[in-house]
Amino acid sequence: MPTTSRRLDGRTQAESIRREVAAGVREMTARGAAAPCLAVVLVGENPASLVYVGSKMRASEEAGLRTRERRLPATATQAQVLEAVRALNADREVDGILVQMPLPAAVDARAVIEAIDPAKDVDGFHPLNVGRLCSGGAGFVPCTPLGIVELLEREKIAIAGREAVVIGRSDIVGKPMAALLLRRHATVTVCHSRTESLARVAARADILVAAIGRPAFVTREFIKPGATVIDVGMNQVTDVAAARDLFSDDPARLQAMKTRGSALVGDVHPAHVKEAAGAYTPVPGGVGPLTVAMLLSNTLAAARVRRGGGA
Ligand code: NAP
Repeated sequence: MPTTSRRLDGRTQAESIRREVAAGVREMTARGAAAPCLAVVLVGENPASLVYVGSKMRASEEAGLRTRERRLPATATQAQVLEAVRALNADREVDGILVQMPLPAAVDARAVIEAIDPAKDVDGFHPLNVGRLCSGGAGFVPCTPLGIVELLEREKIAIAGREAVVIGRSDIVGKPMAALLLRRHATVTVCHSRTESLARVAARADILVAAIGRPAFVTREFIKPGATVIDVGMNQVTDVAAARDLFSDDPARLQAMKTRGSALVGDVHPAHVKEAAGAYTPVPGGVGPLTVAMLLSNTLAAARVRRGGGA
């Protein structure tokens, strides 16, 4: 068992990235160019989406980016959403386009993503950018896995030659995470709901990434002693008995949960990871802040490429 487990502070690294983006924006505007512009399309009033869009807009403005918000009602048709995207594609002022997910059931998310100009696809979900990620080309990479690799590199955690296990195979986290780790020469295994002997496979990992969507799913037997454990999960726990186990080493957090009635918990057991891992990302304060920082970074890169300066 490692004597100390290093907490990887995503907030601090995200602040550094945001400062670097702000410096890049200042350099651009000092040359007389307009600041990069991020446009967000929000369909409906999903409360979580409203919070996410609000924090992305605030962070963008703090870094000196210009923002545009295109809101459509939950009753918007597929044609109306596609029209909004096409108008932003055609708008020369707009450098990056993000369509906040999830979209209402009546709108085909795949068709909307495919309608985004790949040169403005700062979320990296367009098939052209997905293909470039897999084939080694330069393109936009989804912000969450990109932020994780940035964190590993800034924290000087070696990737090349290491065994990496990613639990989860979604298009936004698991698959691009695996592709990025492979590009950096890790030996990568991707696990999912049909994987047999999951804990045994996970326990091979020098770098374990959990992107599952189940609170504290990854317990001590999944973690090779000394491994780096990256927790992508964001789950609300409301059960006090469950919280008692999760926060057994953190009475202040248990008390806060009782007061608020809920707590944000990752996919990794917060007490077990401290016992077993060599380094780990906490929830909150780990991967989440990096996701927003990489969105700003992708938008600056989009503006540089569109203006002929290269990323
Ligand atoms: P998702 O699309 O629901 O995918 C979940 C993945 O986990 C699927 O591949 C699924 O396998 C796998 N899985 C589910 N139950 C499993 C089990 N019992 N054993 C093994 N694998 C299992 O979720 P997502 O969008 O990738 O998000 C994952 C988590 O990350 C969520 O908590 C989400 O809120 C969070 N998230 C956080 C950020 C951030 O910025 N921090 C960003 C994005 C997502 P199958 O494919 O076989 O169904």
